[in-house]
Amino acid sequence: MGVLLMVRNLYPKSVSVYLGGGRKGKSKRWVRMEKGSNRDSERRRVEVEDLKWDHTFVRELPGDTRSDSYPREVLHACYSKVSPSVEVDNPQLVAWSEPVADLLDLDHKEFGRADLALFLSGASPLPGAIPYAQCYGGHQFGMWAGQLGDGRAITLGEILNSNSQRWELQLKGSGKTPYSRFADGLAVLRSSIREFLCSEAMHHLGIPTTRALSLVSTGNLVTRDMFYDGNPKEEPGAVVSRVAQSFLRFGSYQIHASRADQDLPLVTLLADYAINHHFPHILNLTNTQTLSFCTAHPHHSLVDLTSNKYAAWVVEIAERTASLIARWQGVGFTHGVLNTDNMSILGLTIDYGPFGFLDAFDPKFTPNTTDLPGRRYCFANQPDIGLWNIAQFTTTLQAAHLIDEKEANYAMERYGTRFMDDYQVIMTKKLGLPKYNKPLINKLLSNMAVDKVDYTNFFRTLSNVKADTSIPDEEMLVPLKSVLLDIGKERKEAWTSWLKSYIHELSSSGISDDERKISMDLVNPKYILRNYLCQTAIDAAEIGDFGEVRRLLKLVERPFDDQPGMEKYARLPPAWAYRPGVCMLSCSS
Ligand code: AMP
Ligand code: MG
Repeated sequence: MGVLLMVRNLYPKSVSVYLGGGRKGKSKRWVRMEKGSNRDSERRRVEVEDLKWDHTFVRELPGDTRSDSYPREVLHACYSKVSPSVEVDNPQLVAWSEPVADLLDLDHKEFGRADLALFLSGASPLPGAIPYAQCYGGHQFGMWAGQLGDGRAITLGEILNSNSQRWELQLKGSGKTPYSRFADGLAVLRSSIREFLCSEAMHHLGIPTTRALSLVSTGNLVTRDMFYDGNPKEEPGAVVSRVAQSFLRFGSYQIHASRADQDLPLVTLLADYAINHHFPHILNLTNTQTLSFCTAHPHHSLVDLTSNKYAAWVVEIAERTASLIARWQGVGFTHGVLNTDNMSILGLTIDYGPFGFLDAFDPKFTPNTTDLPGRRYCFANQPDIGLWNIAQFTTTLQAAHLIDEKEANYAMERYGTRFMDDYQVIMTKKLGLPKYNKPLINKLLSNMAVDKVDYTNFFRTLSNVKADTSIPDEEMLVPLKSVLLDIGKERKEAWTSWLKSYIHELSSSGISDDERKISMDLVNPKYILRNYLCQTAIDAAEIGDFGEVRRLLKLVERPFDDQPGMEKYARLPPAWAYRPGVCMLSCSS
């Protein structure tokens, strides 16, 4: 221990290495090699001018012949080169994420630069970037909507980091593109704060997601009719810089299959692009037992994934999607707009609009006012919608003759299996059970729905229950007192009966109460990004105080830690939080 500490302290925190070259007005280019405090390896730390760009998307795929942003149908192309056009007036860096800066090797000192907000809003071009908007389509609320595309997101290119990872950097809200249709290509501060904070919150909850590097206020106003009720209002504008290994969606493939045969080869080109860059392991599959499967269909008995890389690919996408949605169920997350253009082929949570975490458990909760009539995208429907979306994606690949019907059916089967497997594991861990117990979990969820119990706080508190079968009935609910509020005699009996079965199950596990508490608290977050917390940060930011956005960012970076002093952020929503615009939003952002 002593020797290790000495070796670590032997070197200064950082040393500078001269690499030659340099940005305009600077004679030398310095790259800091930093001994990361939480990383063992040395990390390159660069200035924005020295980010290492690559542009495989525009290099390997066909693009639009035009580069203006006039709204139009873009045929025979996967993207249109278009530059950010957002106008700014003294833009401010509202917040930025240290771990995302690290993904790009970006020196933290860069965030102190006066001109950084210009780069990260898109007002000043980033040296080395080749900006483009992606062409995609999608099913919106179950109906084919035709071409959609990046209407207000502009990708600057891919950044290669010192770990040889490739990260796309994209500005959302940076101006019109050919895909903006009738809209302005801009984003408001309110929805940008929500996307910025939630992408980071999801990552730290262990859920795959696009990330957010920065949030910049543009200093200009944007007009929005927040409730689509004929009352437009001016709101502060903002740009989020998003980071993901790829922003390809199911709709990126659907659009080309929906067009004349001439564009069908683009589906294959895009599939090859995705496999080569993001699923390279699929190219090296060998025939092992795990890759041949019996399907449920009697005439199609065997699917061999080693004989068709596209079949292996779609199966992996189906499984990643299933696993993602199972994790959403685990933390009570509802996406709100699960259209196929918002489904990442990497199985990432993408495009945060009117999302919401459950407060009181309600399987029918939808955070999206546009979704209210049918509640297509409500919490409990998400697993089925994921499958519906996978079905659209497999139809696209079948249209392009990349997979056949039995492979498509197999991908959907695997979606179902993977979802159930992951869901059972997640729920078993949330309850700290020795094994999955369907009746016990179902009974719990129905009790929670009846009594509108807070989803997050209930599971966090559940780890205080002791596996002691001798506890008298009247004392059984004591550890859950803070989360079972306002329940009458009858409901107390229902909960006592459930707790008896639960304690009985726990007592058979042989795991100590302390051990179980530790493992349950590692999967049941104390802090989630409740909509009312976001709203408080938004209200402050809209009058120029960004402190609460920054505090919330720090809070959601450690959702499973107790964080003494921060307990107020685990409180139930106040009454004002139930008004539309806080707990429920439209797509207008
Ligand atoms: P979303 O619901 O945010 O996933 O967006 C659906 C489609 O509408 C995508 O093609 C977006 O690019 C586009 N879109 C949404 N808001 C705007 C906007 N303010 N300007 C241009 N396009 C937009
Ligand atoms: Mg979208």
